Amino acid sequence: MNIKNLLTFTFIFSTVLNSETLIKPTSYSKDLYTAKILSSTYINSIDHPNKFLDFNYGDRVANPSQISNAILNWSKQSNKIKVVEYAKSHENRPLYAVFISSSKNINNLEQIKENISQLSDARKINDRKANTIIDSLPAIAWMAYSIHGNETSGADAALGIIYHLIASDDPEIEDLLNKMVIIIDPMMNPDGRDRFAKSLEQYRGSAPNYDDQSLLHTGDWPYGRTNHYYFDLNRDWFYLTQPETQGRVSLINTWRPQILVDGHEMGAQDTFMTGPPREPINKNIDKDLIKWGNIFAQDQAQAFDKKNWRFYTGEWHEDLYPGYSFYVQFRGSLGILYEQSRMSEDGVRRPEGTIQSYKESVHHQFVSSMENLKTLQINTKSMYRDYWDGRKYNISKDTEYANQTFVVLPSKNHGRLNSLVDKLKAQDIEVYKNTETLFVKEALNQLGDIEANYELPEGSLIIPNRQPEAPLIKAILEFDAEIDESVLREERQENLRDGSSIMYDTTAFNFTMMYGLPAVTVFENIDKDLIEWRPSSSDIEINDNAVMWATSGDDDKSVAFAARLLEEDIKVRIIDKESMLSGHELSRGSVVVIAMDNPENKNLTIQIKEIASDLEISVHSIESGFGSEELPDWGGRHFKLLKKPQIAIFGHSEYNSYDVGVSWWSLDHHLGIRHSLINGSFAGYADLRRYNTIILPSGYPDMNNSELDNLSKWVRNGGTLIAHNRSTNFLSSNDGLGNAKQIQDIFEDVHDYKFDLMREIMALDDQINKEKINSNSVDNLINYPWESIKIEMSTEELEMRDKWQSIFMPSGSFVAGRTDKKHWLTFGSPDILPVLYSNYPVLMTGDNVEAAVRIGALVPNLNSINAQQINWSLIPSEKNIKVRMSGLVWPEAAQRIANSAYVTREKIGKGQIILFSGEPNFRGSTRGTNRIWLNAVVYGSGLGTNALVDP
Ligand SMILES: [Zn+2]
Repeated sequence: MNIKNLLTFTFIFSTVLNSETLIKPTSYSKDLYTAKILSSTYINSIDHPNKFLDFNYGDRVANPSQISNAILNWSKQSNKIKVVEYAKSHENRPLYAVFISSSKNINNLEQIKENISQLSDARKINDRKANTIIDSLPAIAWMAYSIHGNETSGADAALGIIYHLIASDDPEIEDLLNKMVIIIDPMMNPDGRDRFAKSLEQYRGSAPNYDDQSLLHTGDWPYGRTNHYYFDLNRDWFYLTQPETQGRVSLINTWRPQILVDGHEMGAQDTFMTGPPREPINKNIDKDLIKWGNIFAQDQAQAFDKKNWRFYTGEWHEDLYPGYSFYVQFRGSLGILYEQSRMSEDGVRRPEGTIQSYKESVHHQFVSSMENLKTLQINTKSMYRDYWDGRKYNISKDTEYANQTFVVLPSKNHGRLNSLVDKLKAQDIEVYKNTETLFVKEALNQLGDIEANYELPEGSLIIPNRQPEAPLIKAILEFDAEIDESVLREERQENLRDGSSIMYDTTAFNFTMMYGLPAVTVFENIDKDLIEWRPSSSDIEINDNAVMWATSGDDDKSVAFAARLLEEDIKVRIIDKESMLSGHELSRGSVVVIAMDNPENKNLTIQIKEIASDLEISVHSIESGFGSEELPDWGGRHFKLLKKPQIAIFGHSEYNSYDVGVSWWSLDHHLGIRHSLINGSFAGYADLRRYNTIILPSGYPDMNNSELDNLSKWVRNGGTLIAHNRSTNFLSSNDGLGNAKQIQDIFEDVHDYKFDLMREIMALDDQINKEKINSNSVDNLINYPWESIKIEMSTEELEMRDKWQSIFMPSGSFVAGRTDKKHWLTFGSPDILPVLYSNYPVLMTGDNVEAAVRIGALVPNLNSINAQQINWSLIPSEKNIKVRMSGLVWPEAAQRIANSAYVTREKIGKGQIILFSGEPNFRGSTRGTNRIWLNAVVYGSGLGTNALVDP
């Protein structure tokens, strides 16, 4: 041991013995910034925030329980405040909306709410009534902070703002409260904030740390940004998958605030950014709001100028995706974004050498908020008048909304359809059902074709666009969000120049494609022969004497039904071919429990009934196992026995937290069965025999040869390995597992791939010429699928093209997936499945690798007399291929991914590998691809493997 080590050793040893011998910090962050945030005079009967903290307000990050505690105490100390708990997080933390106003307004909240509701439906009141309401209404502001849990300064500012508003004796504040209802949503993501606050405690040393690369500032996997299941709550505003969003959006939608402030943080070396945004901006946002956005920004800028604080507007702040907090703009509220540079809690050393303190960042949020409230106070009446004009516009007869109706075609997937309806209704969208077939002149389908004289079958879900929430309806249901030509030009130039992008989020997001539900847009206002939509109720009919009990495979919930029965060790079968038993139609993928399979179980029907009621799924009793004529019978090979899934998800730092979280959430939320989330770095020495199904979410698994070997042996022994996106990239690259390949690696053997694809496509052909077939002479005029292709592309040309095309890969767009209707992975899926696609590995299948879903819808085109060549692949004559469904897909990218596989399945030894090119559970809302994933997870070990992993 040398002297240096000895000293270190002694030091550590002594600190363990006696923490008081630690050296005192060299400086304190509180000394860096001496300005006072709370600078008014305050009444004594209300406790100062310091009372609830173990540090001085603004010096450090208040944790969720400190903030909640302060709010609950203040609600007892003041009559200007009313606290509403609008949700509980997954970890059971409360989310509060703190209503602050004069005590008179606080006592009158119900009436105010009623007036706002009246002002929002222009079908029910006239201009005169509207003006009376506007005259009487206080201004309403919703001030929300820290939706990303590690962007902490907003919630700390909120704590000060609440105190300032209820305790200041400044007459200006009193005036403000007489004229306004201010709703403060201080911490929108308490679970994420708590995770980050904990990491601040864990990584704190003796001296303040100003290095934004240190763990104190960054935290670690899965970081504090997201909620319990690692969801980004600021992408969930209309998909409404998480309890935090569900509660919040419901309350915001009742209160319809005039402004919604959303306080975030951005990179530590940045300054401060606020709205309004730059292009692309969603076209369904009322132009008045953009005008008001500028007015608020100007006032805020002046306040910053006065204090000598730097800021900017626009730049990277775009607004195409409607699932940010800017969601409220589609309902007539002005959304205002703050992005404060992230100072964590001590402060950050800046490039110019100065240190900006955490307290100053809290002050920026505080001043911005107070300034925006003042601007609203001045402009509230004009803003209400604009709002009223907007509400009238939404229902008038000559607008872009007036003659348009969105229609979801009837579906037997009741679980999924009901879930969509719930989400639409939660946003005040009125939904109907047609009681008889309706004929319309034209309808636009999801592949972009206009079909003339279209028939809407009875029982379609009808959503007329002409209703009070018209802009929101259009934003979330139109197949394509309009993007300006200038935006496309700039995006293409950026892509080509250095691979960058001006798109901040996905360019496709419409609800019906996310949900994988076939839908059309009709260009007329449908308002006749409609009844209000009521969810179909489940029909549980369980007879003890039946030979079996069955549920339809059309419903996604059938997968959960099977999974929960299996978890209770009940033997379950699945029918892999459509059947009809005792008068009940059983689709492919229907789940059945057969009495004879479960001879020992005395509670069988009770258990089935319980699970079916929990899931609200229909179950029928079947008296006979005989399928008429050619249809499957119960003793035949189409009634496959399932195996109980024993699931592990790999997670932790090598994996993408969003994809890990959403997969974990889907198991808990859609199935509700046991599984293990395990640390991916244990891959080499974990006892994998405990699992028969392992999920590798998207990530960069850093497996060495022995770890890969361990996994490979496990697969060969009967395991089902499922991978997504970057993990698929890892497994399908040259030293991965299995035989699925990526496009850039196959050009040497391109003929084999082309040949296999032709077999697959021609196998769908139903044209037969019996006379020719029965002819006794050899036919020398047979047409071969490839013969009309005159010149084949060289390997060099294919490689060059591929490299060029890969510059243009999409960043979140819908492409058409064609499903293999004979594959068990596609149970419950439509023929054409919208697939959300980004810069994913482009998968190629050869050597017995199956493609359960391939990219590109093959549509008839009688004009195309010759086969067409698309890079490596062919399309036979009389066919066209459609790839783009929604969002930005450059033509080069469409060519590149056409005919590639989205889901592959390959048998290896006794087990199998299932690869998803993308992330099938994206944001908990791609329900179409999620179903294929659920099939893989629950049915995989029963349908695709030969043996249980040796226990
Ligand atoms: Zn943020």
